[in-house]
Parts: sequence; C-alpha cells; structure tokens
Amino acid sequence: MNNFGLDIWSNKNFIIEDDEIKLNYKSMPSLLEIVNNIRANHVKGPLLLRFPHLIKKQIKTLYTYFEKAIIENNYKGNFNAVFPLKVNQFPSVIEAITSQGQKYNYGLEAGSKAELILAMSKTLQGANITVNGFKDEEMLTLAFIAAQSGHKITITIEGLNELEMIIAVASKSNLKIPNIGIRVRLHSVGSGIWAKSGGMDAKFGLTSTEIIEAVKLLKNANLIQQLTMIHFHIGSQMSDIAPLKKALREAGNIYAELRKMGAESLSIINIGGGLAVEYDQHIKSNARNYSIDEFTSSVVFLLSEIMNAKNVTHPDIFTESGRFVAASHAVLITPVLELFTQDYQEKLLNFKEENPPLIEELIELNHLLNNANCIEYLHDALDHMESLFTLFDLGYIDLQDRSNAEILVHNIIKKALYLKSANPTNELEQLQIKLQERYLINASIFQSLPDYWGLGQHFPVMPIHHLNTPPLRAASLWDITCDSDGEIGFNPEKPLYLHDVNIEEEDYFLAFFNVGAYQETLGMNHNLFTHPNEYTIVINDTSYEITNAIESKNILNILDSLGYDSKKILNQLKNNLKNSEFITEKEKDDTLAKLERFLQQNGYLRTTN
Ligand SMILES: *Cc1c(COP(=O)(O)O)cnc(C)c1O
Repeated sequence: MNNFGLDIWSNKNFIIEDDEIKLNYKSMPSLLEIVNNIRANHVKGPLLLRFPHLIKKQIKTLYTYFEKAIIENNYKGNFNAVFPLKVNQFPSVIEAITSQGQKYNYGLEAGSKAELILAMSKTLQGANITVNGFKDEEMLTLAFIAAQSGHKITITIEGLNELEMIIAVASKSNLKIPNIGIRVRLHSVGSGIWAKSGGMDAKFGLTSTEIIEAVKLLKNANLIQQLTMIHFHIGSQMSDIAPLKKALREAGNIYAELRKMGAESLSIINIGGGLAVEYDQHIKSNARNYSIDEFTSSVVFLLSEIMNAKNVTHPDIFTESGRFVAASHAVLITPVLELFTQDYQEKLLNFKEENPPLIEELIELNHLLNNANCIEYLHDALDHMESLFTLFDLGYIDLQDRSNAEILVHNIIKKALYLKSANPTNELEQLQIKLQERYLINASIFQSLPDYWGLGQHFPVMPIHHLNTPPLRAASLWDITCDSDGEIGFNPEKPLYLHDVNIEEEDYFLAFFNVGAYQETLGMNHNLFTHPNEYTIVINDTSYEITNAIESKNILNILDSLGYDSKKILNQLKNNLKNSEFITEKEKDDTLAKLERFLQQNGYLRTTN
C-alpha cells in the first residue's frame, strides 16, 4: 500500500485510516472532515490549517531531550529556548508558541526592528528575547526600551561598530542596559543547502581579534558585566551533526577563554537553530543523520567536557530552533481543479457503424483484458496503436478513428497498470511515467511553497482521501499562476502517484505537509495570489474546534497594498459599466453587484463544487 512516505516524514503526527489521513491526536479528526467543514461555509481555494498541538509537541520534545541530557551528563547549567520570528511571524503561530511554551518560559528572537517590536509586545514577562542581525542606533535603542520595560533581552552584536553604538546609547541615556551577546565567527562550517551562516567568510560574527577588542571596549566602558552570552548559528536544516560538534568545541573554548579574561557575567552559550526537519517522502535520502537524542546529548556532553577541562562553570544553553518547532504545525490543502489528460475518458469514445479492423481489435482487447493476459494484450494494443498512427498519417483512417484508438489504448494501459499495481514490470513503470497526468491545483507555489521554487526543497504531498485505492497516475502538479515555474514536475527518482478521479463528479484534495516554517512570509504575491485562508484547529478528546479564521486578502486589498487606490478602481469599473449600452437597468444593477462581490473575494479560483 502506498502511504506516501508517511512513516518517513510525519513523525507519527498523522495516520492513514479508513481511506483517509487523520491527525494522530486525541479525537483524531481526518483532514477531509476538517476541510469539508470549512468549505461548507462557501470557502474555496487553498486552505492553510494550523495545528497548535504539534507546536506544543515540538517544544516539549526539545525540552524533554535537553533535560534528559542535562541529567545524564550531570550538567550544571539550564536549558532555555527562544523562537526565531523570521521562521513564521503570523499571529496564530506566535500565540501558539507563547501559550504552549508558557510553562517553559519560551522566548522570542528578533532579527529586525519590526520583529523586535513584535517580540517586545508578545514575549511573556520573564521569558527571554534575543536580538540578532544587523542593527542601527535606533534598533539598539529599542532594545534598551525593552530592557527598561522589564524584558530579559540580550542583543548579540554582529560587529564592533554595534558594540560602539551600544556604548554610545548607554552613555546618552539612563535607560536600563540590555544584556550583550557576542556572535562568534566560527572557523567550522555548516552543511546542507542553507549553510551559509558559518565559516571564516560568514556574513555574521566577530573574529577572535575582534572578540578580544570587544572585551576591551566593554571593560573600558564599565559594561563588561553586561556581557552574558556567546552566540553562533551554523545555518538551517543541518543535515550532518559533525559540523555542529566542531562549532561547539570552538564556541565552548571561546566561552571558557572569555570567562578567564574576566567576563564574569558570561553565563550562556546560544547555539542558534539548524535542527533539521524530515521533508523526504522516499526512503532513499534522509534529511539528517542524527536524532534529537543524539543532538541534545552531543551538545550537553561536549560543553560539559570543555568546561570541565578548563575548570569553568557550565553555561546555560540557549537554542533558537525555528524550523524544528514550526514546520510540522501547518498543512496546506489544495483542491485539484482539473486533470489534463482526462480527455481520454471512455465515455468520449464515438464508434462508427463500421470501424477499421485494428480498432475492432482494440475494442476486443479492452473488453477481454484480465490479470492473466494483460501484459500480452498491452503489447498487442501498443503495437496496434503504432499501426493506427501510420494509417492516419497515410490518410487511411480519420480523426475520429484516431481519437477512439487513443482512448482505447490509454484505457488498456490504465487497466494493466491497475491489475499489476502490486508489482509493476519495468515496462509498466516506464509507461506510467510517459502517461504522466498533470493535476492543476488551486494554489500558488510562489505564495505557499516558495522554497520549492527558490531552492528545489521538496515538501511531502499526498491526497487526503481515496487512500485505500492504489494511486496509479504518475503526477505532475501545476499551480494556477501563469508561470511555467509554477510546476512540480514528475521526478522518476522521487515519483508521486495520484488517483484517477473525475473532478466533475467529486472533489480531490492534496495536502502539502511541513509547510509551517519559512514558507509563509517568504511566499510572494506573484500574479497577485495572496496568503491563503488560514484556520487554527484545536483538537480535544471528543471533537475539534476551528478557530482564528483569517481570510485571504481580497482583490481590493491586494491592489491597495501595491499602492493603488482600490476605491477609485472600483468606481471607475462601475462607471464604465453604468455608461455602457444595450443592457437593461436591471441587468446593469445585477452586474454591478456581482462586480463588487468579485472584488471582495480573494483571487483563487472558485470553480470546484
Ligand atoms: C534563522 C536563524 C535561526 C533559526 O534557524 P532554524 O534552522 O530555523 O532552526 C536561529 N538563529 C539565527 C540567528 C537565525 O538567523
């Protein structure tokens, strides 16, 4: 049975049962049930479903494993985590993180002024804020304001100039001074396609010479007691644990040296993010070569080893894992609008009173095909097809005959594929790939899966129903943008097979999983498709609640966000219509109302039932 790699990527968050995929939690609703419930209120287009219990699960996993490693290694420091806002700033996500993380004092990390404002307003009192990225005096002043307002905030400096600015702000005001961290530029480099954050030529961090200089500056300004943290981040989606270990050795030793140089308040090593998520649907390639257990044990063990050797107190450990915490919580549901090769439907056969003999034979093959003879009949059918094409080219058969032949042969191949679906022959597999079906999905890859477009990142995808039926169509997915890059092509190395459904008669929904990290704000309004309708699904013991519905921006809103005056546009369209001729006043009024209604909806297609 094809389970679409569920056991590889789903981390037991979902299970397949009774033909459908269900949440593996409490009352276990199926995705289809949730989708139908939402769509019962005339909602069309793609849906983004958020499951806060999956955020809770990740936070709990992170803490549980770090706490376990701390006990096992007799480690003296504590574990703390902050969520990097750049991974997903949407309100329902931040609310889930802060509420689910409350008992752990989960904090937030900001990398820009706007994110800092968000962190200052959403971090629970007592939880940590860390500030990374390039800063100006204004941003640093904001951090002072946060400290003054009672937040536990640490600014990690990316360069000496930032430290000079902090010293300047401190000398100019009486505001409480935030804690200071130093991002170290590591000699060791990360791995994986996102690994640009480490290394000698990295964009961020201070070299050893600059670190020494920083300590001098801090001492001279009498601010050395503010230096509390060493920070590094070796890049996202870390596939291999070896570079992290190298980085820890390096950063751990820098930490110990700094303590010896008199940085007595230094008490935290912040190891950034990078914990990887499994996106693969096929056994062949695994995204990471370590488990969460190995990850946490390695971090705690290495730090204790370094500190013990240098006789330095064990530091507290901070992480800024983003992808690991947020990726699994969001599922994108896209209705399929069309199957392009459905023109080969049996009902479109149109026979003549007298058909060419080869067509009569195809009819017979199609009729008599069974498990025992299907390979032989398939070969006959393919052979006849060749002959029929030749006859057509020579003018012996007409277009109707050719159409009948194509439909019959397609049907024979499909039947053979079905009969042999348990163990297809090589030849059948090749035919399957050739007969690739293109599924048009009501979504924009640019908006909802930008990392597929930009980086070729694969996201697990599968239908949410029909799961007891073997999927037989080699599938490529086309989105509704007018851009040929809006396609997820069939990849024989990592094949996707979907069902042969008649969209006119039934809905067919595909779900993309693990889309909760980075995709949403990285997503772009290409063709002016906007962030899809989103819903937070809170599952309890007996049922579930659909909460925090946020509608996709409507057409007028999106025009406004580009700088147009949507009211003017609407009026102009209305006036043009009002001044037009040859329809009755009643029809004009109806059309005006329709026009207004269309512009107040989002731009996704509304064609499915
Ligand atoms: C992006 C980023 C993170 C988050 O990385 P993930 O791979 O999502 O865990 C953490 N810290 C810093 C400094 C970052 O820039």
